[in-house]
Amino acid sequence: MFLYNLLMINICSKEDTLKKLEILSDAAKYDIACTSSGVDRKGKEGKLGNNVASGICHTFSSDGRCISLLKILMTNHCIFDCKYCINRKSNDIRRACFTPREICELTVEFYKRNYIEGLFLSSGIINSPNFTMERICETLSLLRNEYMFNGYVHVKAIPGSSDELLLQAGSLADRMSVNIEFPTESSLKKYAPNKSFNLISNPMKKIKDSIAMNRLSIGESPKLPRSNINKYIPGSIFNDVAQIEGDNILKSSLITKQANVRPFVPSGQSTQMIIGAGDDSDYTILMTAQNLYKDFDLKRVFYSAYIPVNEDSSLPSPGTAVPLLREHRLYQADWLIRFYGFNARELLSKEEPDFNTYIDPKCNWAVKHLEYFPVEVQTADISRLLRVPGIGPKAAKRIVSSRRHSLLDFNSLAKMGVVLKRAHYFLTCNGKMMYKTLLDEKYITNRLIMLGGNKNFQQSYQSKRQLSLFDDFGLK
Ligand code: SF4
Repeated sequence: MFLYNLLMINICSKEDTLKKLEILSDAAKYDIACTSSGVDRKGKEGKLGNNVASGICHTFSSDGRCISLLKILMTNHCIFDCKYCINRKSNDIRRACFTPREICELTVEFYKRNYIEGLFLSSGIINSPNFTMERICETLSLLRNEYMFNGYVHVKAIPGSSDELLLQAGSLADRMSVNIEFPTESSLKKYAPNKSFNLISNPMKKIKDSIAMNRLSIGESPKLPRSNINKYIPGSIFNDVAQIEGDNILKSSLITKQANVRPFVPSGQSTQMIIGAGDDSDYTILMTAQNLYKDFDLKRVFYSAYIPVNEDSSLPSPGTAVPLLREHRLYQADWLIRFYGFNARELLSKEEPDFNTYIDPKCNWAVKHLEYFPVEVQTADISRLLRVPGIGPKAAKRIVSSRRHSLLDFNSLAKMGVVLKRAHYFLTCNGKMMYKTLLDEKYITNRLIMLGGNKNFQQSYQSKRQLSLFDDFGLK
């Protein structure tokens, strides 16, 4: 204990809190796996804050990133030397470290001023994985039990830390994440020599099993709830949400029925992959994401376009354009897997491993599968309607429920939220298309490209940047 205190005093007291905040919130901006969803918690007497399932997750900056959490690193000191990371040990940068109490005070003060709704806490690895995870647990324990903070907390699990510490963190946090960073073991080894797939997948599995055990103990399905649209889609990878894995979960779980007081990671776990640092294809990335959803019941996989920050011959050099359109395409495809019943193999293949930059993945799939169209709105089931570009889960459900009472026309489809400028190439309403249209791949592709406006995407997207606490609060 004495040695620990000495180490923390040495490392953590050199800067004042504001300077640390500047350094450590800036250092955290490269980690984007921070949206929150799926947990609803009412305020309690004597506790500070609540959490609304639809609240935090809808607060995004204009470039699509979540801004309502205080997103900081506990420290940007790190004993690892990941090539792509600004905080790697070989970089000569300003370093800082918060004490657990400093993090709690910042969180509570910002919360009271309505700047934030929760905390996203990550960290470099200081001293050892267990040492770092202990500090994170100490922070969460203080925050929940002394500061009585009841708001949303997302915490990073440090790869290599003990099961006991993972259990402790998971019993206090709403969401946990372990970043896989790259889709293949070889890329991970190349760019993060201190990490391995086992080091990442072990805590992922522990967290998954403990969530499942906790849910079973309160009489719920072991898997996290997903959008209920999946139950209408026979091919969806989330269609087996109610299946119980029974014994395996019980044996490998970190927790027991009696030990549980607070739900274990009620908002599920997530991970992040870096896009464009290595040479993995979109196909490899998406297949890995799909396997992660299936194997670890992840709530989200985040894709983070690599921002070149380090000089390294194996990485894009600083100044290289950030692959934001590629990141965007992967998010679109991820959405198709989670809400539309697509399988990664339907969207890409080894022969065609990268997304079309001109049209989105759903349109791209549709023009290559014209044998599937036109779809008749009066009779098609939900899974078939969802394959039509311009029809989303809400519109598909509305179509199915309203056609029971009346014949639909294109006007009524528009009112239900169908985007006809895309959908009309692929639909018939009572046997008729909206316009006489040639079902021809080249013709429809050209028309869709004209609609897309992607030429400006990269440019407009690049003009936005990560918000800084110091832009918003005038602390500098
Ligand atoms: S473990 Fe790797 S990615 Fe994480 S802070 Fe350290 S150097 Fe960066």
